[in-house]
Amino acid sequence: MIDAHCHVDFKEYNKNRGEVMQRAQEKLRAIINSGASLGGNRRTLKLQEEYPGFLYATLGFHPHNAVKADSTIIDQALGEIVDNIDKTVALGETGLDFHQIKGEEQKKRQIDIFKRFIDLAVEFEKPLVIHARDSEETALNMVKNTVPQVIFHCYGGNARTASAIVDEGYYLSLSTIISFSDHHQELAREIPLYSMLTETDSPYLSPFKGRNEPAYVEEVVKTVAQVKDTSRDEIDRVTQKNAEKIFRL
Ligand SMILES: [Zn+2]
Repeated sequence: MIDAHCHVDFKEYNKNRGEVMQRAQEKLRAIINSGASLGGNRRTLKLQEEYPGFLYATLGFHPHNAVKADSTIIDQALGEIVDNIDKTVALGETGLDFHQIKGEEQKKRQIDIFKRFIDLAVEFEKPLVIHARDSEETALNMVKNTVPQVIFHCYGGNARTASAIVDEGYYLSLSTIISFSDHHQELAREIPLYSMLTETDSPYLSPFKGRNEPAYVEEVVKTVAQVKDTSRDEIDRVTQKNAEKIFRL
């Protein structure tokens, strides 16, 4: 199994990150840690050095941070991403989150920064890890025919846009939300296995009480196997192969 999207660099793990990583290494083939800020990108690169061949880095700037960050910080983050481009397996997370947005100005900021990531993904031929909430179709229209490889992480949009994403040859990553959300189980039934990745988005979206962690990606595999009425081994095998392919592990 592979956790295709998590944030082990977050402070939620400061007390026992080593134990969390050990449990992950016992169960999983690899984890993809996505930087979400300037500091997060730096921490992600450090973790990649600590866990070579197991933790892989993607570097980005989360749309939540995009609306509040100083533009000099954003420029610095993007500069450091370019400097470290050879150490990344993808760019992001980046994208659009219109769920709690206040006004057109914030929307425009997210779109501007997302565009800069789109340009980098094209220039450096990297997959793009997208966070899209209440904006899935807008995000898709911005990347299609432009970015060759895209992952919609923690996809929770509608089935119609999911099918358009599949048609583009992009991936949809299903998170641990699936263990407790009927909507996400419905999506898992619709999305073909060849377009699917599994993730936890740790420390968020825990299937259990408290903090999430990469080893719990097993719960996604388990639930997808149930809704698709197939074996866990099959889900594990195909989703792992998909992740190895897109991230070139
Ligand atoms: Zn995330």
